[in-house]
Amino acid sequence: MFSNETIAAISTALSESGIGIIRVSGDKAVSIVNKIFVNPSGKKILEKAQTHTIHYGYIIESDKNIDNGFKDFVIDECLVSVMLGPRSFTGEDVVEINCHGGVFVVKKILSEVLKAGARLAEPGEFSKRAFLNGRIDLAEAEAVMDVISSKSDSALKASVSQLSGSVSGKIKKLREEILYNIAFIESALDDPEHISLEGYNEKLSDLTDSWINETEKLINSNESGRFLRGGIATVLLGKPNAGKSSVMNLLLGEERAIVTDIAGTTRDTLEEYIKLGEIGLNLIDTAGIRDTENVVEKIGVDRAKKSADRADLILYVIDTTENLNNNDLREYEEMFNNFSQKKGIILLNKIDDLKKNSSGDEKDSGTYSINKLIEKINSENYPVIEFSAVTGEGFDELKDIISEMFLKGIKNGSDEIVITNIRHRQCLEECSDSLKKVRESIDNDLPEDFYSIDLMSAYSSLGKIIGEEIEDDLATEIFSKFCLGK
Ligand code: GDP
Repeated sequence: MFSNETIAAISTALSESGIGIIRVSGDKAVSIVNKIFVNPSGKKILEKAQTHTIHYGYIIESDKNIDNGFKDFVIDECLVSVMLGPRSFTGEDVVEINCHGGVFVVKKILSEVLKAGARLAEPGEFSKRAFLNGRIDLAEAEAVMDVISSKSDSALKASVSQLSGSVSGKIKKLREEILYNIAFIESALDDPEHISLEGYNEKLSDLTDSWINETEKLINSNESGRFLRGGIATVLLGKPNAGKSSVMNLLLGEERAIVTDIAGTTRDTLEEYIKLGEIGLNLIDTAGIRDTENVVEKIGVDRAKKSADRADLILYVIDTTENLNNNDLREYEEMFNNFSQKKGIILLNKIDDLKKNSSGDEKDSGTYSINKLIEKINSENYPVIEFSAVTGEGFDELKDIISEMFLKGIKNGSDEIVITNIRHRQCLEECSDSLKKVRESIDNDLPEDFYSIDLMSAYSSLGKIIGEEIEDDLATEIFSKFCLGK
């Protein structure tokens, strides 16, 4: 099904770091690395190495005669691990060279490995081989990629759980049940004298309902899965001086390092990724927040409208110390109407200031008009949090509410299976459609052989998730999305 050439690639990031790893996999992995590795006494010992052992020594230039000593040809000091197939990641013989992590040295060693006879691996080719050799199924292979790109604890947890087979396990169980019933129908049709289908329809109808139920539950988990993986696209809205930048800085303070800071095509589309406990927020349009002078209209709605198309969540920042006049109220109302399709949270900001200066007379403090505003908009749809960007009041509540809104109870520690992969979701939708057809056929009293076809397609759709019913070109496409060295 695939070439058995020995492949090699750098498996760690190309940056200056403590170690770098070059991974080699295939029949000739050991003999290839043996050509360029010597132990401290200058001996090439790798071909005699036991499986799952690590060896200390030196990588040397491949084409040099070392009969009179190797010291002049040393490229780096390293540890080499040998994992013979089938007990390796790819199922083939795997050798990993752990060298120092400088960009130049790692590349240099890779080029020596290639000179010694390996071919440069394609992106994802190690995982593809693991899949083709039956070491992991497709869902697990895809999880490898997800583990690498995880940006938060929950995303990592969902991927690791998928990697250890949670999704595959569930899919396999569903498939087994469906297959058992297909086989039962087929045998009964072949041998009606011995196997009766009497009363079977009711049983199958119940079973189909439960399969649909389980499939839909997995499909629904995908929405949470999407947020776990990619973060929640978030826009901050509010009048100038309401405290948007201060709220943003408070959020950023949670994780000092900005993970992504992508300048987009226009200066308006700067994005920042914030890790907020178990979930990630992609703050979009942060340039607009910082660049207050450039905000022409009052609340920045026009600009925000563009970003709000992409937003999953809008954080409305309202200054509680401000007395809103009727005009303001109308503007706010309009803003909420504009974004009524979006999930939103109202942050009643500067609550510290309000509490400090409150004279007891609501009309003086701004509370009165804010309360009026909250009454006017349908605040049932919007959680309201008393907030202070200065003292951090309300911050924990904000985190809890976001997590409740988007993860729907999928929290660290819960064992719920989360579908994070869009391809898996599509296969589950196909499966659910076929199962619904089965249900319809039963309701319409159609003959059994009629719906066993739909059961079969439900079975096939599930098979595609774990790679049992997958064409080669799809496998190639999936693996090509992997990064090099994986
Ligand atoms: P933006 O124009 O909406 O981005 O507002 P800023 O974040 O620049 O805040 C405007 C002013 O309000 C600044 O002087 C902030 O220090 C102040 N401010 C913002 N949030 C709070 C808060 O929660 N409490 C208090 N007391 N002041 C705040």
